[in-house]
Amino acid sequence: MVDAKTDRLIIGAGAVGLAIARQLAMAGDQVVLIESNSSFGMETSSRNSEVIHAGIYYPANSHKARLCVKGAHMMYAYCAARGVKTNQLGKLIVATDHEQEARLDTILKAGKANDVPDLTLIGKDQVHALEPDLRAVAAIHSPFTGVVDSHNYMAALEADAENHGAIIAYQSRFIDAEKHSYGYHVRINSQGEEIIFACQTLINAAGHGAHLVSHAISGIAADTTPPHYMAKGQYFTTTRKPPFQHLIYPVPSGGGLGIHLTLDCSGGARFGPDINWVDQPSYDVDPAYADQFHQSISTYWPALKRDELVPAWAGLRPKIWPDGSHFQDFTFHDASIHGCEGYLALYAIDSPGLTSSLAIAEYVAERLI
Ligand SMILES: Cc1cc2nc3c(=O)[nH]c(=O)nc-3n(C[C@H](O)[C@H](O)[C@H](O)COP(=O)(O)OP(=O)(O)OC[C@H]3O[C@@H](n4cnc5c(N)ncnc54)[C@H](O)[C@@H]3O)c2cc1C
Repeated sequence: MVDAKTDRLIIGAGAVGLAIARQLAMAGDQVVLIESNSSFGMETSSRNSEVIHAGIYYPANSHKARLCVKGAHMMYAYCAARGVKTNQLGKLIVATDHEQEARLDTILKAGKANDVPDLTLIGKDQVHALEPDLRAVAAIHSPFTGVVDSHNYMAALEADAENHGAIIAYQSRFIDAEKHSYGYHVRINSQGEEIIFACQTLINAAGHGAHLVSHAISGIAADTTPPHYMAKGQYFTTTRKPPFQHLIYPVPSGGGLGIHLTLDCSGGARFGPDINWVDQPSYDVDPAYADQFHQSISTYWPALKRDELVPAWAGLRPKIWPDGSHFQDFTFHDASIHGCEGYLALYAIDSPGLTSSLAIAEYVAERLI
């Protein structure tokens, strides 16, 4: 017995699910968004660096390259229109020796191929003029990079979606779904009560739960669902106020962007995230990592002392590869892959998923037509 019906049912109220709900509701669709937590953005969307990435590092024509650059433009415009704080601080990718300096050229070319605005390679003197306390032999300057108040960004998406008729149901967990002629019958545990929703289209934006959702839909062959891995990223903050005005990134290595310094919209500083592959989810920060953090940071900020680092928080990157040896793109599975019309699953929405969220939503809406 079906309890209620909707056109579109979305699973997961992180930044991506909220942006999709807003996009579809504004297009006039009937939308229901379900979220197992008691509010939006309590998982990966609130455990990140809040950086509006410019789209520099990603292979040309990948989803990440396209949706990040587009998403960053969209995010600045959206936040300005909705009164959400952003700060376009700009970013420096810093080479601290001549071997790293040689790698800046490749990064610059990749960024330019992706149409990242205003990227320039600058020498030691120009770096010094911008950031006198930074140790560097050269850098890439990306003035387009910034930070966003991610909580208020998601609150604005939620309000837009609801103002256009979307129903957002918290404490409502997807259990399973069956394919029917109309679309899907979706079993949901909503605040302890089990209900069945009928929907034409089912959209899976469940982040770390996305593979479990797909496994619980009748008709989806298990081998079409990608495996799920987690790469933990820890952050430290510092008792010393960093003297920097820009976001400071080392030259990337080992599958991550390196231990970088970001500043939030209120000027708070944090270092990280590092990258550790884990089997069990945990948001603990191991204080012993202060040594590694200090070693990395002191290559570009020698003045920082180890005992000025304080463990802060951690996030988990959803991955479909077991290590950092593959480039992982945003991954969208529709009927052409899993065989079930009307079901779209999003996997591997790690960084720059926050930046890309509005562009992902637009892309999802196009795929559903
Ligand atoms: C350490 C770290 C740093 C990052 N830094 C940046 C950055 O600076 N800039 C950037 O652009 N991106 C960054 N990212 C990436 C960005 O945070 C993510 O891409 C983005 O938040 C993903 O949003 P999402 O909505 O897909 O997932 P989530 O935020 O994880 O949302 C998924 C939601 O689905 C819900 N859910 C799961 N299963 C069910 C179920 N069965 N029923 C109902 N609900 C369910 C969950 O509760 C969750 O709320 C970073 C990520 C990490 C881990």
